[in-house]
Amino acid sequence: MAEVVKLENISKFYHTKSGETEALKNISLSVASGEFVSIIGPSGCGKSTVLSIIAHLEEPSGGKVTINSDKQGKGKGQIGYMLQQDHLFPWLTVRQNALLGLVLRHNKTEEAEKRVDNLLKQYQLDGFASAYPNQLSGGMRQRAALIRTLAIDPAVLLLDEPFSALDYQTRLAVSDDIHFIIKNQRKTAILVTHDISEAISMSDRVVVLSKRPATVKNIYEIKLSGEQTPLQRRKAPEFSTYFQKLWEELNENE
Ligand code: ADP
Ligand code: MG
Repeated sequence: MAEVVKLENISKFYHTKSGETEALKNISLSVASGEFVSIIGPSGCGKSTVLSIIAHLEEPSGGKVTINSDKQGKGKGQIGYMLQQDHLFPWLTVRQNALLGLVLRHNKTEEAEKRVDNLLKQYQLDGFASAYPNQLSGGMRQRAALIRTLAIDPAVLLLDEPFSALDYQTRLAVSDDIHFIIKNQRKTAILVTHDISEAISMSDRVVVLSKRPATVKNIYEIKLSGEQTPLQRRKAPEFSTYFQKLWEELNENE
């Protein structure tokens, strides 16, 4: 299958007034088209740095990043980013928020507007198109934020702990919604989380990073029988085996 993201021997040093921080060491990872990959690792190990490098927000100190090898140099516009806060602007309606990425890219064509309206409709937000974000539930806001990200038709979606501001019940429901939309749109996604269950329930593969400087400790392919939605996947018989392996791997002393 076509590779969308390819990281080869990525290293990253941050230079600050107080000295040098080695964040990443020798990170190699390929993500195929339509794949959902999660990255887990200890707090501060370099997870967000990996996403920043894929998004070209940070330059790697060494190694090579390739986004859609056949479209070199166009990687920048093809990245969709979703963060913990939904960053919806309170003074814009849901539809205006969803169109914002296109407006900023001077790309608000009729076709793109149609795509946004279809997405709003498909994912049950059309009734709220003229509503303001504060009239929406937390889950609906995250859905609106995802639609804004999808509006630019990105090749890859980067999700940096997008559910961590939500309470547990909402979080379960929203991760089901977000997973459904991403799979339904056949998008490639990379999710950073420190929640092992969330990683297993949502992903085709889970990448475990070591503590800083992050190296790839292990990559698990997740195979769950009768797999459906993330909620249903949590009930699969193999789930607890993966959980135990990942938990041990994360808490192992090096
Ligand atoms: P994680 O997302 O796994 O918690 P980060 O990627 O945010 O970790 O950070 C990894 C390390 O790099 C941390 O020690 C952090 O303090 C440092 N770091 C992250 N961003 C910067 C930056 N812009 N400048 C300097 N140091 C940074
Ligand atoms: Mg982070």
